[in-house]
Amino acid sequence: MNHSMSAHSERRSPPNIPKPTENSWVSNLFSPLSDTLTARHHSRDFVYAHGHYLRSRVLAVGLIFLLLSPLWLLIDAVMLPNTVHRYTMPGRVVMMLGFAAVIWWAWRHEENIRRIRFSAGALLSLPALFYALVLIVLPSGDEAGLAGYGFIPFLLVAVLSVFPFTLLESFLAGVMLQVLLVFAHQVNGIWMTPEAIEAQWLLASLLVISLTANHFQLSLLMRLYRQATHDALTGLLNRGALERRMSEIERERLRTGKPVPYALLMLDIDHFKRVNDTHGHSVGDKVLREFARLIALQVRAGDFVARFGGEEFVVVLMGVDANKAAAVAERIRHAVEEATLFDHDGNPVPVTTSIGVAGPDEALSNETAIKVADDRLYKAKEAGRNRVCKA
Ligand code: GH3
Ligand code: MG
Ligand code: MG
Repeated sequence: MNHSMSAHSERRSPPNIPKPTENSWVSNLFSPLSDTLTARHHSRDFVYAHGHYLRSRVLAVGLIFLLLSPLWLLIDAVMLPNTVHRYTMPGRVVMMLGFAAVIWWAWRHEENIRRIRFSAGALLSLPALFYALVLIVLPSGDEAGLAGYGFIPFLLVAVLSVFPFTLLESFLAGVMLQVLLVFAHQVNGIWMTPEAIEAQWLLASLLVISLTANHFQLSLLMRLYRQATHDALTGLLNRGALERRMSEIERERLRTGKPVPYALLMLDIDHFKRVNDTHGHSVGDKVLREFARLIALQVRAGDFVARFGGEEFVVVLMGVDANKAAAVAERIRHAVEEATLFDHDGNPVPVTTSIGVAGPDEALSNETAIKVADDRLYKAKEAGRNRVCKA
């Protein structure tokens, strides 16, 4: 097959369209560590799922902190001398209000991933800032009476493990907490003593454990997400994921009032039953995998390819005009016809495909796009198969 033909030429990514990096075969090669180190390689869909998960953690931890706040106030009242308590009490109350605000903020901004991230950061920063402020404003000499505050950095490092943070996010938070601990040691006048070094060592060890928990949590989340949205046989998007992406396009259209131009191709392998009957089911599976790979090679990063069911596939081409859509469909058809697929004994298995195209102008709604493409696919079959039927 001529590889110079693969992926239609302009590398322009249309705005507001999910980037199906999972479709690219390269993304499957990323090692798990690069997946969890930063969110750079995460697909837009995953970022969304990740944000929802992060939000549930923010709400849970926020609620725990909020409910513990009156208890902490009570403990402070019992444990701290009056001179110290005068300083910590207003801070505790403000922090409690801060927890409530974070919960409200995360609750309200379900759709906004950046705000959910911010709320997670705020949740962890509040106790750290509170501790730092108490250390700053407390008259010198009074720190000795500050019972039960020294564990705040340790508590926060442990809490990092509850969140599906990326390793870089957790590491940065951990470094800030180390700085906080150093500051506390300086205020208490124990900086660089064996006691302080031991505490620092403990904090660093806890951070490593939290980072490990973050890594496993995020990779598990990713694996579950991939399994839920991708077809196991071909690695393409599954039908559910296709429908979710298409409703996202539809939502975008309703939100902006402007149609998002895309063309939808419906593909069906010709006489696939014969392949199964002649060569066996496992060769049929091999053909399906190879077929999926052939299609994926012909589209751009912003497009998406899904296994619609059985041996039917859907390709959504973003930001194309009718001519371009027809040209890509024809190229896929040609690539499939030209490709040589083999059974387990090395005998060639001829494969062709019929394609129905719903042009960008007709893609009025997702349902009509699929219906129009399906009708045309049927026409392509009627007309003798191995052909493209367009408007
Ligand atoms: P047409 O040209 O009209 O499409 O003929 P066809 O033989 O392809 O007809 P049809 O679409 O009815 O056949 C689909 C076949 O695909 C039937 C089913 O056994 C087979 N099939 C569906 N899913 C799989 C799969 O996961 N693996 C294998 N090996 N076969 C599958
Ligand atoms: Mg078929
Ligand atoms: Mg079929």
